[in-house]
Amino acid sequence: MTVAVASGKGGTGKTTVSVNLARSFGSEVRLLDCDVEEPNDHLFLSGITRQIEIVTIPVPHVDESLCDGCGECSRFCAYHAIVSFGAKPLLFPEMCHGCGGCAKICPKNAIDEVANRIGVIETTLTGNITLVQGRLDVGMAMAPPLIRAVKKHDRQNGLTIVDCPPGTSCPVIAAIRGSNFVLLVTEPTPFGLHDLKLTVDMVRELRIPFGVVVNRVGIGDDRVHVFCEQEGIPVLLEIPDDRRIAEAYSRGELIVEALPEYRMFFKNLLGRIVKL
Ligand code: SF4
Ligand code: SF4
Repeated sequence: MTVAVASGKGGTGKTTVSVNLARSFGSEVRLLDCDVEEPNDHLFLSGITRQIEIVTIPVPHVDESLCDGCGECSRFCAYHAIVSFGAKPLLFPEMCHGCGGCAKICPKNAIDEVANRIGVIETTLTGNITLVQGRLDVGMAMAPPLIRAVKKHDRQNGLTIVDCPPGTSCPVIAAIRGSNFVLLVTEPTPFGLHDLKLTVDMVRELRIPFGVVVNRVGIGDDRVHVFCEQEGIPVLLEIPDDRRIAEAYSRGELIVEALPEYRMFFKNLLGRIVKL
């Protein structure tokens, strides 16, 4: 089973839920940190890095001797990653999505492809968790291909937890796609409700079953709970606004280890997901 953990904005507790859920599972579990622009699951899960893979995407390379400057490639590329002004095109590899379209469309067969590094994937063993973390290189804008490469470490057997990037844009879709269930983490505040509504629309569009985790219950108001009740969305876990949790977080400790009384909450969360 693959459970994605997502939220409409950063800082709502997505990482907290992901790492604590993984640790409380007890048996072997894969945790895929797909927040590749800012992976931070490793801050809570020290271990031995067993493997580092370099991830590349194919980007165009133009043979000047064949190119006549027709500009077909430039007109084709929706991402403005290859631009021609009547001469050999200029390339902007950091904007290239590696679709290969310009090479196919070039009437002079002047374009072939070369590998361009976008980031790395690190695999770390930490207790019952195999943490697979994508890390986008500085200056690279292509998160989805790296996220898809991290997702290839998902397996059909056992449990995989996917820590998604925040928001509702392409990287999040890439991280969530193929999951069996999505946990939407939010806070009981007007901002939390606003972003929750966006993520609910997104997962409904993707037709993946989902439920909500409300973090820091006690701050804000009850509008998130009212919304969930009206929409028939199950609230699967409520994490109280407990100062001890914030203190453990600031020390890089897991809630389920610093405050063992919370371990059962996270274990029950998995049980409730399986029953839905
Ligand atoms: S489509 Fe081919 S021939 Fe035309 S400008 Fe691009 S690389 Fe040159
Ligand atoms: S491979 Fe695709 S995205 Fe990259 S430059 Fe060519 S057309 Fe544009």
